[in-house]
Amino acid sequence: MSKSIDSVNWFFVPYDQLNHDIFPWADSNRDNNGLIFIESSKKGNSKNFHKQKLALLLSNMRHFSKEAESLGHPIIYKSTTLGYSEVLEDLYEQIGSIKVVKPAERELRFELEPLGKAGKIQFLEHDGWLTKRSWFLESVGDKPPFRMDRFYQRVRKETGILMEQGKPTGGKYSFDSENRFPWKGDPETQKELEFEVDEIDNEVMDLVNEKFSSHPGKCDLSKVPTTLEQNIDSLNWALGNLPHFGRYEDAMSTKSRYLFHSKLATSINLHRLSPREVIDSALSAQAPLNSLEGFFRQMIWREYVRHIHEVTDGFRALEVFDKDSGEPNFLNQNNPLPETYWGKKSGFNCLDDVVESVMDEGWTHHIPRLMILSNFANLLDINPRELTTWFHEAFIDAYDWVVEPNVLGMGTYSLGDAMMTKPYISGTPYINKMSDYCKTCKFDPKKNCMVSNLYWAFIERHKSAFEGNIRMAMPLRSLAKRSDEKKEQDKLSFEYILSTLSRDDEVMIQS
Ligand SMILES: Cc1cc2nc3c(=O)[nH]c(=O)nc-3n(C[C@H](O)[C@H](O)[C@H](O)COP(=O)(O)OP(=O)(O)OC[C@H]3O[C@@H](n4cnc5c(N)ncnc54)[C@H](O)[C@@H]3O)c2cc1C
Ligand code: SF4
Repeated sequence: MSKSIDSVNWFFVPYDQLNHDIFPWADSNRDNNGLIFIESSKKGNSKNFHKQKLALLLSNMRHFSKEAESLGHPIIYKSTTLGYSEVLEDLYEQIGSIKVVKPAERELRFELEPLGKAGKIQFLEHDGWLTKRSWFLESVGDKPPFRMDRFYQRVRKETGILMEQGKPTGGKYSFDSENRFPWKGDPETQKELEFEVDEIDNEVMDLVNEKFSSHPGKCDLSKVPTTLEQNIDSLNWALGNLPHFGRYEDAMSTKSRYLFHSKLATSINLHRLSPREVIDSALSAQAPLNSLEGFFRQMIWREYVRHIHEVTDGFRALEVFDKDSGEPNFLNQNNPLPETYWGKKSGFNCLDDVVESVMDEGWTHHIPRLMILSNFANLLDINPRELTTWFHEAFIDAYDWVVEPNVLGMGTYSLGDAMMTKPYISGTPYINKMSDYCKTCKFDPKKNCMVSNLYWAFIERHKSAFEGNIRMAMPLRSLAKRSDEKKEQDKLSFEYILSTLSRDDEVMIQS
């Protein structure tokens, strides 16, 4: 460290602000701006985080600090069993006031708040977001129902992205109807990137395997980017997927976990790649409009859920919270999450295949998250908070501000219609149409698969909660026409599956 410690502006850099260019430390001479990093095993152990997630975070942070050092930043790097605030309080005594870009995670903001109030740390605005809170408040408001369309159109108009003379390019704001095709193996997918593992990666993997040995999953840093160059390689790889991203956005396959998705949330949420550079690169790529629009909309979903989380203080400001449990649980779903979600085979090929990819690499794309993992949890009346915690722990791109709205507000109906007009649920035909899971399943989708029974049993159990909901009118009408015999079968299937999975057994074909 060339400068005296007193003449340096010290910034605490949380684990998800790993960007050299968009935060205030990039503003003036880098050697005036010291960066503080904290590896806290208290945080690592605060949840049952997947080993791959711990390794991804630690290795990116270690690489980032080395890159920052070579750019000229003075560095303080602490490894501790304490929490962030305890370390920062101690550092304050040595170096004086510390600056922090307002953390994205509520949990960290909450932890640091007392230090801010005591004047020991100073919060700065976070320039990593693309949209202003005022756009959200003016187009959506601070009370439910929250609807994405109004916000999305406002963002398009404000930014002029995919707009021509004030009108959306191609004549409409969404090309969703062109983006729902199953994938039959053609066009071919790209080979997944394999990253070179360096000394830092190896040290981190050893650390995770030793200190977090009881945590689920395994770590393999050849599967995720950890250096800046590797993160940029990921972006270039993702651009290669973009031409087919739109058409096959909703498809699922046993042959390719990612199909044409970008796998970039991991890098973006850590800010290794800024949302701005990802969008700029995507918009200048050669890809059809339905792909470009679909990708841009997904990136705006990211902004949208973050605004909702912040405006509602992680939903705590909403009346949808159950007064007794303090948790959102509109449908009063209270069954525990079965071990299936941690890798115990259920017998359902769709669910087991997706869980395998989560256990393997802490990732699966949007539709398996929504239409398999959340769908099964919904149909089995799993407690929404338990499911959210599982997503938070198991996924390498999960942070409170993004995982909570996605699971509580979209994956489940725990917030009622605060974010979605109806629950995202499906029976066997949807899974059979959009994937190839059924082809290698012991159940026959046309004869003895019980997922549709679960679907009808769910609607029957919760029909009073859906009364008056126009979007649920059709399923309710179909339910009314369903014979008593079939309804009894639905109920028996639900009870059998729930009890079987809660005993950690595999579901079998019922004669
Ligand atoms: C139940 C459930 C849980 C989810 N949990 C997370 C999570 O913990 N972290 C997370 O980043 N995303 C989460 N998502 C959103 C989305 O599934 C992932 O962002 C996406 O699958 C990541 O893969 P990708 O990078 O290939 O995304 P792509 O399909 O390539 O999409 C491009 C980018 O758009 C953004 N994006 C797309 N959809 C969303 C969304 N709904 N919310 C926020 N950003 C979005 C991501 O940054 C993503 O990288 C969740 C969705 C559901 C239904
Ligand atoms: S047959 Fe049923 S259980 Fe099997 S993969 Fe298809 S939907 Fe899933």
